[in-house]
Amino acid sequence: MTASLIAKPFVEALQRDEILYQRCHSCGGAQRLARYACTGCGSERLEWLPAAGGGTVFAITVVSRPPEEAFRELVPYALALVDLDEGARLMGHAPTDLKIGARVRAGVFQLGERRLLRFEPEAG
Ligand SMILES: [Zn+2]
Repeated sequence: MTASLIAKPFVEALQRDEILYQRCHSCGGAQRLARYACTGCGSERLEWLPAAGGGTVFAITVVSRPPEEAFRELVPYALALVDLDEGARLMGHAPTDLKIGARVRAGVFQLGERRLLRFEPEAG
């Protein structure tokens, strides 16, 4: 199965402003990004669950060269790897001044015909 097929439920949920994460039905382990099998126990019984949206920045990288034309208007932007409170790790767009360890909230924004994940600093 290709990565884009595995992540299809996640991408479709973004269209409805819903953020999903993947969890193992066998051992309960939250997954990093989208997986075909559990990274903890190898089970292929993975399920998608709605995330509350809160998380902590694990890593961040600034993108100054757009990967495709549609992203040109956004550069420079950051891509953040965020550990959700549920334990899963997701990657999404973020402000470039975001710091590792910062508390963030996940949201969805529109870019052309796509809806994409974006993390913003948590208020307060
Ligand atoms: Zn498992």
